[in-house]
Amino acid sequence: MKMREINAKQITDAVSDLCMKANFDIPDDVIQVIKKAYQDEPSPQGKDVLKQIIDNDEIAHNEQVPMCQDTGLAVFFVELGQDAHITGGLLNDAINDGVRKGYKDGYLRKSTCNPFTRKNVGDNTPSIIHVEVVPGDKVKIIMAAKGGGSENMSRVMMMKPSDGLEGIKKYIIDRVRESGSNPCPPIIVGVGIGGTFERSALIAKKSLLRPLGTPNPDPELDKLEKELLTSINKLGIGPMGLGGRTTALAVHVIVEPCHIASLPLAVNIQCHSARHKEITI
Ligand code: SF4
Repeated sequence: MKMREINAKQITDAVSDLCMKANFDIPDDVIQVIKKAYQDEPSPQGKDVLKQIIDNDEIAHNEQVPMCQDTGLAVFFVELGQDAHITGGLLNDAINDGVRKGYKDGYLRKSTCNPFTRKNVGDNTPSIIHVEVVPGDKVKIIMAAKGGGSENMSRVMMMKPSDGLEGIKKYIIDRVRESGSNPCPPIIVGVGIGGTFERSALIAKKSLLRPLGTPNPDPELDKLEKELLTSINKLGIGPMGLGGRTTALAVHVIVEPCHIASLPLAVNIQCHSARHKEITI
């Protein structure tokens, strides 16, 4: 079968656009859930904060400016069709070139730095790229701008198998409680259970990409997500930590098999600036 050719330059241009759009335009599913939370929030301070978030996201969209000063590390989930052939350069280079261009042209803050000297790299690269090979001849690129505040509150915990489901629930709720106002609530709680140490973190992050307001396809996990959301929203942290019901907008869970001796659990916290955009080429 003939491979379909996709030029690296096409990917660079698309990625540049995704970086800007993700930072300027809040996804529709996210803003709809925030608007619903605004209607339902009983705390006056909480309601006021949610209104400010809604107004802020509207200004960002109308004026095509970033919705938050922290424009994040650029994280990519790429689904590469096994019948697609990238020509004219490497896939990762094409993506990083797009990040350089998008963050420069969109006047987005560059946030990557040397971990020790803290010297800024200057162009927001390298981006974080996860590639999965899938059937077909297309390439799907999902870009997520991941801010530091919420990422810092995320954890991987190698639980004991004997901790079981109750231990998992307790850890997740405690993590949100301890995070308090740091991740700019209302948050989305991405949970990865199973796999290995690094796999749990990856699926926790991936879970954040499921459209808000959609049920988990597994009815048992859907029940678990709703139970966790109810418990979290009883913590009283509220929007931006000023008190109220809306601490989280959603809990998303992905579960995979793990080693008989292990129980990896990852909690990836996403702030209300839940920025992601995708394109299929
Ligand atoms: S946690 Fe999110 S909303 Fe808060 S500063 Fe970081 S990117 Fe912005």
